[in-house]
Amino acid sequence: MRLSRRRFLVRGIWSMCLLLLSFCGQSVTQAEGQLRAVVDREKCNGCETCVDICPEVFAIEDERAVVKLDPLPARLKDCAVEAAGECMAGAITTVEG
Ligand code: SF4
Repeated sequence: MRLSRRRFLVRGIWSMCLLLLSFCGQSVTQAEGQLRAVVDREKCNGCETCVDICPEVFAIEDERAVVKLDPLPARLKDCAVEAAGECMAGAITTVEG
């Protein structure tokens, strides 16, 4: 009876360790694939298209766009890339790294 309780505890602890290791592995993978957005304020004309497309990432300050988050959370990568593609001034660059 004691032995089976001990085995049960060891298995439970081992399962928790494996679970923690899998979470650590996921966060490392996400950190490796981080995306950054950069605005060239010399090129920016302040049209606000990027803000319309991705307001969580871009804002207007002093009549030019700025990036509010660096690096970007994974959930905002698609809208930042879309905003970069729609910027007619070519002022937004997205960089993986
Ligand atoms: S879309 Fe381009 S030009 Fe327009 S505000 Fe954003 S960065 Fe500036």
